[in-house]
Amino acid sequence: MNKKCVFIYTIGCQMNVYDSEMFKKVLNPLGYIPVEVVEDADLVIVNTCTVRKKAEEKAFSFLGRMRALKKKNPELIVAIGGCVAQQEGAAILRRMPYVDLVFGTRAYGRLKAMVEKFEYDRIPHVDVEMTMGIAGEIVTPELDAEVEVSRFVTIMRGCDNFCSYCIVPYVRGREESRDPDVIVDEVRALVERGAREITLLGQNVNSYGKKEGLCDFPELLRRVSEIDGLLRIRFATSHPKDLSPGLVAAYRDLPKLCNHIHLPVQSGSNAVLKKMNRKYTREDYMERIARLREVRPDISLSSDMIVGFPGETDADFNETLELVQEVGFSGIFAFKYSDRPNAPAANYEDKVSDEDKRRRLDKLLVLETEISRTKNLLYAGKTEEVLVDGKKDGKEGPQWTGRTACNRVVNFTVTGGVVEGSLVGTLVPVYIEEGLPHSLRGVFDMKGH
Ligand code: SF4
Repeated sequence: MNKKCVFIYTIGCQMNVYDSEMFKKVLNPLGYIPVEVVEDADLVIVNTCTVRKKAEEKAFSFLGRMRALKKKNPELIVAIGGCVAQQEGAAILRRMPYVDLVFGTRAYGRLKAMVEKFEYDRIPHVDVEMTMGIAGEIVTPELDAEVEVSRFVTIMRGCDNFCSYCIVPYVRGREESRDPDVIVDEVRALVERGAREITLLGQNVNSYGKKEGLCDFPELLRRVSEIDGLLRIRFATSHPKDLSPGLVAAYRDLPKLCNHIHLPVQSGSNAVLKKMNRKYTREDYMERIARLREVRPDISLSSDMIVGFPGETDADFNETLELVQEVGFSGIFAFKYSDRPNAPAANYEDKVSDEDKRRRLDKLLVLETEISRTKNLLYAGKTEEVLVDGKKDGKEGPQWTGRTACNRVVNFTVTGGVVEGSLVGTLVPVYIEEGLPHSLRGVFDMKGH
C-alpha cells in the first residue's frame, strides 16, 4: 500500500481533539500517516466547530486557503468534518467547489469508506446522516505503542438540553452514552501505553447513562478510578442543574478525582439564566458549589461565561461580576454572545450592542486575571504535587512542565541531582517559588529538601 499523508486541522473543543485522533486511526488502514505541514498532505481534513461564530469563520478561512493548494495539486483531497459540516452540508460544496468531502458529527465511522470511494471515483460526497447510533460507531481506536501522559476519552455525545444560545443539540444530535465496559477498556489500554491522566468527555457528563439505563456517571468514575496505574481523573463538561449528590460523594471518596471542576454558569443573573434556558438559578449554582466545598474545601472551579446575551442589562452583568468575585473561579472562558443559526436566541430581538459586549468582556477578563493572580500568589511557599507532562530547554537549563490537581500549570526546574530518564508521567512534589498571573514557577528538589 502506498504511503499517503493526512493533515488534520482541529478547531474547537476537546471532543473535536478526540475525534481528530479517531480520524487518524480510521484512515490508517488506507495508508494515511499524519503530517504537521499542510503542503505535504494528500488529504486535508478540517474538523470544525460552530459553537461560536469566530470558530466557524476560522474554518472557512482555512478552507479558503485550500483553494490555492488544490490548484497546485489537483490530486489533493479536501474534506470538512464536524459541526460546520453538519450544519451546512451540501451548501459547502456549492460555496467551495474545491472541497471534496463533507462529513457530519456522526459520520466518522464511515469516513474510511468515504475517502476510499473518493480515491477511486473522485465524486464529491456529503454525509450528514444523524441516524446511526454512536454506540455502534465509536469503537476503541487501535492505539499507538506509547501515548501522551494526559488523554481524552469520549463517554457520550450529543446533548438534550437546548440552551437557547447553543447549536450543539442541532449539530451533534441527541445525547447518547457509550457502554461503560468499552470506556473502561479504552482507559485501561491508554494507561498500559503510558497515560496517567484521563479526561472523560461529554457535553453533559452528569446525565451519562441515564437514557440507556447504563451505570450513572459517579459509578463510571468509580470504575475508572480502580484502574491501576491511572493517577488522575478529570472530566468535562458538567451541567450545574444535573450535579448530583452522587458526584459530590465521588469527590469525597475518590482520591484520583482531581481537585477541580469546570462548572459553566454562563451568567450570574437569574433573568438571563432563564432566557438562556439553563434550568438553574444563581442560588442553585451557589448551593451546588457549597456542597462540593463541604467535601473538598479547596476545590478549584472554572467556568464558561457569555456576556451580552440578548436582553442582558448592565445590572444583569454586574450580577455576573459579583458571582465571579463570590465564587473566586480559578479560570474563566468568557465569550461575547453571537447568534447561532437554529438556536432560539438568534431570534430574540433585544440584542446587546457590540460595543457593550466588548466593554463587558474586557471588564470580566480584568476581574478574572486579578482573581487568578491573587489566587496564584497564595501558592508561593507551598509544595504542590505536579503531574509532569513535558520538558523544555530554557536559558537556565531544562525546565519541566506539569499541572497541579487543581489544574494550575507549573513550570519548574530540578535541583539536588540529575534526572535519570524522564520525569514525564510521574507525580513530583514541587516547591512553588512564585505565583504568576496564569501559571506557577517552582523547583523540585530531588534530595527532598
Ligand atoms: S448543555 Fe446547553 S450549552 Fe451545553 S451543549 Fe447542551 S445545549 Fe449546549
